[in-house]
Amino acid sequence: MIQEERVRVLRPGPPARGRYVLYWMQASVRAEDNHALEYAALRARELGVPLMVYFGLTTTYPEANARSFLFLLEGLRDARDGLRARGLDLVVLDREAPEGALELSREACLVVTDRAYLRHLREWRARLAERAEVPVVQVEGDAVVPVDTASGKQEWAARTLRPKVQRLMERYLVPVEVTPDVTGYTGVTLEVDVSDPEGLVERLGTDTSVGPGAERGGSRAALARLSAFVDEHLGRYDRERNDPNAGVASRLSAYLHYGHLSPLRVALEAHAHPASASFLEELVVRRELSLNFCEFNPLYDRYEGLPRWARETLEKHAADPRPHLYDRATFEASDTHDAAWNAANNEMKRTGRMANYMRIYWGKKVLEWSASPQEAYATLLSLNNKYFLDGRNPNSYTNVAWVFGSHDRPWGERPVYGTVRSASEGGLRRKFDVDAYVRRWT
Ligand SMILES: Cc1cc2nc3c(=O)[nH]c(=O)nc-3n(C[C@H](O)[C@H](O)[C@H](O)COP(=O)(O)OP(=O)(O)OC[C@H]3O[C@@H](n4cnc5c(N)ncnc54)[C@H](O)[C@@H]3O)c2cc1C
Repeated sequence: MIQEERVRVLRPGPPARGRYVLYWMQASVRAEDNHALEYAALRARELGVPLMVYFGLTTTYPEANARSFLFLLEGLRDARDGLRARGLDLVVLDREAPEGALELSREACLVVTDRAYLRHLREWRARLAERAEVPVVQVEGDAVVPVDTASGKQEWAARTLRPKVQRLMERYLVPVEVTPDVTGYTGVTLEVDVSDPEGLVERLGTDTSVGPGAERGGSRAALARLSAFVDEHLGRYDRERNDPNAGVASRLSAYLHYGHLSPLRVALEAHAHPASASFLEELVVRRELSLNFCEFNPLYDRYEGLPRWARETLEKHAADPRPHLYDRATFEASDTHDAAWNAANNEMKRTGRMANYMRIYWGKKVLEWSASPQEAYATLLSLNNKYFLDGRNPNSYTNVAWVFGSHDRPWGERPVYGTVRSASEGGLRRKFDVDAYVRRWT
């Protein structure tokens, strides 16, 4: 069952007399647990035409590098294999994604796509809807609770979104049903072969300054990690998640970012476990607060998008002497006086990940040790999006904004931070063995 709140018509009208239904796969790069794919399959079956699944490989994608491209391509390879098992092809074209969709829409009855929340991805969909001559329908499958159903406005904080999401959870915690008897459309030349992701990264001439991360992309790796997490770590998550040495966090964020894994699948598996409350708080409430922020705050990726009280207090303390002062290059080189900070930055650069608790410290210290809060914001967002495998996600913008006070409340006034929440090394040491972490990542 696909709840109607997940479905939004971007371009209305009756289906054309085309050769196929086109599913433009963009945000949900997976053959499993994919609302948009199943919706497209249902429509194809209803119209008695085959289904074509298309992905546009945009090689000029903002802030992309070899690390992010490899992960993306590994996901495409798995999606292709998963679709093949159902008799469907994945057509990958070397085009700016909406342009390829427009081209293929000319022979389609209608176009179905999935939903994304960042500005340029929304614009891609709007551009297609404006120019296509057939109906375009968007199906939301990367939020457990559809974002506009949970709330119609920018939420203040997790505490204001939480009751709204919790009230609706039951309705949406329903597995996606696979549509049987769908035929694949076979009349298109497959332009890009995704069998060899590493070779393809080389051939595409992607920026190699950031090499592969520690995780392998794709739904196979994602589902394996999910089941290992639920079996081995979920029971310890609540107690130990703030210890980066314990390694009990799920490490699912990159798979969620690329759409290799459905958040609904994760929620369903976790929900069945007795110790799932704090994990579901992160996965559903916090993650969907980020979707809400990007959907409803037009300045989600700008310093000016921070709450007024936070900008005012940071402004008031803008001239405070900094205990240490670093520019972006020094941060990026992990060359500060602070071994814990440098270790965290190294972990990010080498692997593409960092535990949440270290990310808080890492972010707060960039605020404390930069010449201005504006410079700190720019430094943090650019390091975040260059190195993290889960970077360039709604969570990236929302959590960087959180470092500067967004979705938080004022705390006691301090130098540099004003009333924005601060972080200290003492705080880290009270929670876990910082020296062991430093030894590992220095
Ligand atoms: C400064 C800073 C920058 C961050 N940048 C990113 C980023 O670029 N991309 C990203 O996905 N997350 C980011 N986070 C949020 C969080 O740190 C990561 O989502 C988490 O560490 C990912 O690891 P995990 O999958 O093991 O998380 P788990 O602890 O296992 O949590 C499960 C899932 O819940 C969601 N989640 C967890 N924590 C948060 C949170 N604070 N906000 C929203 N959703 C959350 C993620 O989807 C995560 O995969 C950032 C946090 C901070 C403080």
